[in-house]
Amino acid sequence: MIIDTHAHVTGPMEMYEYFRGLAGTSGAAMRVKKFEYSDERLEESLAAHLREVAAVGTELQLISPRPWAVPTGDRRENLIVEITRQVNDMIARCVKLHRDRFVALGAMPQRAAVNLKAALEEMDRCVTELGCIGFKINPDPGEGGAETPNMGDEYWYPLYEKMVALDVPGLIHGGPFRFSREPELGYFITEESVGAWALMRSSVFQDFPNLKIIVGHGGGYIPYQIGRARGFRMAEMARDPSLESIDESMRRLYYDTVLYNQESVELLIKIVGVDRCLFGSDKPANGSVIDPRTGRALNDIKPYIDAIEWLTDADRYAIFEGNARKVYSRLAA
Ligand SMILES: [Zn+2]
Repeated sequence: MIIDTHAHVTGPMEMYEYFRGLAGTSGAAMRVKKFEYSDERLEESLAAHLREVAAVGTELQLISPRPWAVPTGDRRENLIVEITRQVNDMIARCVKLHRDRFVALGAMPQRAAVNLKAALEEMDRCVTELGCIGFKINPDPGEGGAETPNMGDEYWYPLYEKMVALDVPGLIHGGPFRFSREPELGYFITEESVGAWALMRSSVFQDFPNLKIIVGHGGGYIPYQIGRARGFRMAEMARDPSLESIDESMRRLYYDTVLYNQESVELLIKIVGVDRCLFGSDKPANGSVIDPRTGRALNDIKPYIDAIEWLTDADRYAIFEGNARKVYSRLAA
């Protein structure tokens, strides 16, 4: 079976028009009406998605809300919470309509430097009521500001505690951003790498040995830059021999294969190891364009993995299915 662990569903676009209207209002708290739409409308919004994913042989997708769906930059927490609940509800409805094709990952109502209480409450609701088996973690809810500590900080400990208690993994994934100088291409992989480097330099995995975290988009630039990381860590180990190697720290994390280039996919698997890689495509999204050299969509990831000659059949099974089942232990249920 091919399990795609990284995908987003949009749902009816008019829902976001309604949310944007709310963001444009002023006032402290507001009552947020539930945006209503029919199952038929939801099906209509899913049709092209389902066709595209089936065409490349993917059998099951772990779907979460789009990265821009949670308005982390709004200063009204109740608005962030309400909108997040509604997009999570939309994801759960998609799963209900297509149980054989979709499984739900939730988003959390995060806001810069605010404690994670609302996020934890939504996690409980997502797991117990909506059947979510994991979550997306936005490493930078401050959208470029410095108020939110990095993911190695104890600020995040209540989240890690909850993830372990519920046995749900987290996918580090960029969210909305308001840079004028940095395009999405830079922002996402930079913030995902910043989050992962911080975890690798912290005692988080000593404090939470059962914590499961996946770094999105092929681990950002981590596989490519591991040599410099080794240099830093070796210098630190010379001063403190009790430290583990950076490769050991790197292998405490998991990585998805959302990379649209043969050599990049191969480098990722070689550096982090087969057992740390989960198949992911982020399909459909901006990688859905056709590569004139191959005639296939850039985000048709399976052929890249199939083409790696040194992988065994067992390795391929692990990447396409086995590792996802291990990491997302609620998948079996
Ligand atoms: Zn994504």
